[in-house]
Amino acid sequence: MENTLLMGAEAVRETVDRVAAKQDITRDELAFLLSAGADTAGYLRQQARQRAESIYGKKIYIRGLIEFTNYCKNDCYYCGIRRSNKQADRYRLSKEDILECCKTGYELGFRTFVLQGGEDGYYTDEIVCDLVSSIKSAHPDCAVTLSIGEKAKESYRRYYEAGADRYLLRHETADEAHYRYLHPPQLSLSNRMRCLYDLREIGYQVGCGFMVGSPGQTVDTLYEDLRFIKELEPHMVGIGPFIPQHDTPFADRNAGTADATFRLLAIIRLIHPLVLLPSTTALGTIHPRGREEGILSGANVVMPNLSPVGVRKKYALYDNKICTGDEAAECRFCLQNRMKSIGYEVVTDRGDSRVLTRAVKT
Ligand code: SAM
Repeated sequence: MENTLLMGAEAVRETVDRVAAKQDITRDELAFLLSAGADTAGYLRQQARQRAESIYGKKIYIRGLIEFTNYCKNDCYYCGIRRSNKQADRYRLSKEDILECCKTGYELGFRTFVLQGGEDGYYTDEIVCDLVSSIKSAHPDCAVTLSIGEKAKESYRRYYEAGADRYLLRHETADEAHYRYLHPPQLSLSNRMRCLYDLREIGYQVGCGFMVGSPGQTVDTLYEDLRFIKELEPHMVGIGPFIPQHDTPFADRNAGTADATFRLLAIIRLIHPLVLLPSTTALGTIHPRGREEGILSGANVVMPNLSPVGVRKKYALYDNKICTGDEAAECRFCLQNRMKSIGYEVVTDRGDSRVLTRAVKT
């Protein structure tokens, strides 16, 4: 028994070292690292943490998240703000509200604002450009990240010219059949990917990503996600567990696990070392120390919520979301203390990605 355990630990070590050295992973190595015993998986996370530290030291970047609308024209089966959810209590923030969130955030030390929302036609390209340029003129030393879904290349270009620096668009899954399982027929993986390549070509720092444990996910679909990350070379990868929302078609599905999320964070750090990797709110929702453990698995970004408390509960992508009652300052200092408790320091610079944007032919 003891011998078998030792052999298991040895095999994990060898696999982790090999993956770290080549900065790539095979399907079999992935399957092995996802299923290795909890007692041996510690080495994977430890190596990923060391790799993150060799690049970013003890620094953890913070991004102020402003969830500015929960209206959405899309109907993703997993998402609590999908169009068909008649129970969702819809809201939109005004330009003044958003600028106020940025002002509060700036005073709290934030130098990146992430504007996230459903795909809400109310915010036309003109309005989005005006929002971006107003934030940039109020806070020229800050980065603005948009996360507002799939748009035409021309729209992305306009936002970029208005001053947007970064764009987050999780690809959700890189497997065609899995994508169709998670989304209605109007949405396609090819368009999602087109968006990501357009964004990168325009010059944005780009983030893709996926939910861990989404319904229908397998080792094979995850392997395709990792292949896609290697191919796109994003500046950021956002992953967090899938958590069911009670008014969606996936209400009865199991949530993704914290353990699988920690392992995947670690693997992504090892195969794409320079990436900015958030330890997400969803991870903090399914595990009381999820965000700390995410950092200890190789993540290096946290995203405290800057949205006004009055709307927080309404941005209900999934059930039991944490931090919905706290003021911005509470969220910021809570995360700072959590990071400090594990020996890390929250830093307030813009924290630009160190991944170089490749020149891509259109
Ligand atoms: N509309 C934009 C988009 O499509 O990228 C941004 C908003 S969307 C709600 C942000 C992310 O929330 C999605 O990319 C998805 O991965 C995540 N999400 C949605 N429902 C979720 C759930 N039930 N559990 C965990 N994450 C979820």
